[in-house]
Amino acid sequence: MNFRLINGLFIFIFGLSFSQINKTTDTADYAQRKEFIQTFDINNELFIKKIKSQYSGKTGTELAKIYKEFGTDFMKQVKNRDFIFKSDYDIHVKSLIQRLRKNSPQIPQNLKILIAKDNTPNAYCLLDGTFVINMGLFYWLDNEEQMAAVISHELGHRIKEHSFKLFVEFVENNEKDKVAVKNLKIEQKGINQKAFDILKNRMYKKGAEKRQQEMEADSLGYSIFTRGDFRKGEFVNMLKKLQDFDTISPRTLKVETYKKFFELPHQHFKDQWLKKEDFSLYNYDFYKEKFNRDSLASHPEMTKRIEHIKKIFPELSQDTETLKPSPAYETLAKAAEMEVLPNYYHSEDYGLGIYVSLQFLQDGKDEAYYKSWLGKYFAKIYEARKNYNLNRYLDRIEPKKQSDSYQQFLNFMWNLSLEEIKNISEYYQNKKS
Ligand SMILES: [Zn+2]
Repeated sequence: MNFRLINGLFIFIFGLSFSQINKTTDTADYAQRKEFIQTFDINNELFIKKIKSQYSGKTGTELAKIYKEFGTDFMKQVKNRDFIFKSDYDIHVKSLIQRLRKNSPQIPQNLKILIAKDNTPNAYCLLDGTFVINMGLFYWLDNEEQMAAVISHELGHRIKEHSFKLFVEFVENNEKDKVAVKNLKIEQKGINQKAFDILKNRMYKKGAEKRQQEMEADSLGYSIFTRGDFRKGEFVNMLKKLQDFDTISPRTLKVETYKKFFELPHQHFKDQWLKKEDFSLYNYDFYKEKFNRDSLASHPEMTKRIEHIKKIFPELSQDTETLKPSPAYETLAKAAEMEVLPNYYHSEDYGLGIYVSLQFLQDGKDEAYYKSWLGKYFAKIYEARKNYNLNRYLDRIEPKKQSDSYQQFLNFMWNLSLEEIKNISEYYQNKKS
């Protein structure tokens, strides 16, 4: 529901199976993956031809080039098994789309569903009709009605061809910016400030366009959603639920939790591990300061979207209670919860994996399961620290971007010595008591 830049292309984005079942899934979907890659290549070629016939000259060439790059990058993700093909999630999403399609014939027939091993509660639709649903949505949303609402919103984008329009605009504006910056060089006056203004204006404009498109997708999506005979109020509940989502997690890690899980028989807990670095004197992010953060952040956007949809559809003005999930959805949500740690492991987010394992442990979830994940993750952190590339797997502290709890965690991790990491890793892998 936000959007991000992948290889220069704007696309829309909106996070009980253990590893054994995972392996079975991987073998089962091998054929599907192979078939998907073949079809994707063919469709990609066709799409590039279409772009070139529709847009002549520089724009057409640039569009084709970027799209081709994007396709190559996306295929890398598919080959890296970032998506699962044949699964219960997939069946569930297809059945919801089927239900939506019944009274909304404008929903395209050529949709291909991919479930991403990604814990962020997002969904997006690629230009060729590939529809990506992150596993995190199953974990985060309350029921299938909310899932249908997310799908409807994305279908709204797809039907209005929002991604393609933004994509074209991005390429065209890029050209304009190049010319504008060139002219500035001739003027020789306050170049940096002016270049900065151009960038800023562009970002604000993008923000406004984005908001416009999000609202359009909400209205069209809501119509599709209601025609599918879903409980109306759940559309707004879905927006609120996504608003609650913090990229890391809204849960705070308590000091007692650190003390509980890092006081080991042969390594006592040290208070200095929790010591925080002082960032107050350090002007760490000049450009961020200059932007009005609120106009770029997604959360105030969401508030506006909720207000907007309530205004145009008066039946939504009153809040409704969240529906209980069906047993089928509950099973999928539980499965997605058990996949959270394997997913972070797959994407090599080892630091984040430890943070989330500790949250599950703090919540009193399956202790043996999450402790064993602590062992696996700390083993990776140990390896990285030994090879001087911990930066790749553990975030640096960025005070204005991260919650206090996450900063505290990062401080803790960066404060541990190589030896201490090794001891924790071995303890939780049951190599040493
Ligand atoms: Zn959206």
